[in-house]
Amino acid sequence: MTDVLLDTHCHLDAFANPSQVLAAAAAADVQVVAVTNTPDDYRRMATLLPRGGAARAALGLHPLHAHRLGMGGVLRFSRHAAGAAWIGEIGLDFSPAGRDTRDAQLKTFDALLALPQLRDRPVTVHTRGADKIAVQRLVDARIRAVLHWYTGPLGVADEALAAGLHFSVNPSMLASAKGRTLLARIPQDRVLCETDGPFARRSGHPCQPADLPAMIEELAVLWHVSAAHARTQICANQRRITDEKAASPA
Ligand SMILES: [Zn+2]
Repeated sequence: MTDVLLDTHCHLDAFANPSQVLAAAAAADVQVVAVTNTPDDYRRMATLLPRGGAARAALGLHPLHAHRLGMGGVLRFSRHAAGAAWIGEIGLDFSPAGRDTRDAQLKTFDALLALPQLRDRPVTVHTRGADKIAVQRLVDARIRAVLHWYTGPLGVADEALAAGLHFSVNPSMLASAKGRTLLARIPQDRVLCETDGPFARRSGHPCQPADLPAMIEELAVLWHVSAAHARTQICANQRRITDEKAASPA
């Protein structure tokens, strides 16, 4: 992963044509972290993806599935944790979609954050409507998390930055005023790429990993640097977050 862009949050299993999406990613020289929403989805994804290919599976338990999966889901998650290179999607969602399952989400999130395996690998985290409480828990648990598609208050983003967390940005964020305001706040060495495809959309199309080289060009304009410089910076950030994880003791 030396100079190859990494999509750190892509729902490969939600695309109608995952193999086409992967082929386009490989052609664009982009690697993919294929996040999952349940441990069973992770097991399927890890079995399907060829070893050494352009994508690796991330072990997830999405907050909106927490109440349904309960502690049995946490147990299944823990069984796979040692074998997963990336963790996600996990997190909290107190938006209207998740408000009623808040207690179950917190119970699951706390149980996941207590797993020792989460401290020595990258974790991509959903914090919608629960930004402050999620960031606080990630910091307390000493998780060097990547906050994915962050839409919370800028003050909480500052707390996350002060604690060493990273942010992943997608093409849809770069097209929004809110996303650009956030990006202006984040030091360049804390930014990673994601697409959140197929859920994030840009110009009416689902974002996909092959869109990342074009996003780097937009990022370069916002940063007032060359595209080559932006790419080098992002690749250095990717290396750091994966190396840090590999290097730090569990
Ligand atoms: Zn997602």
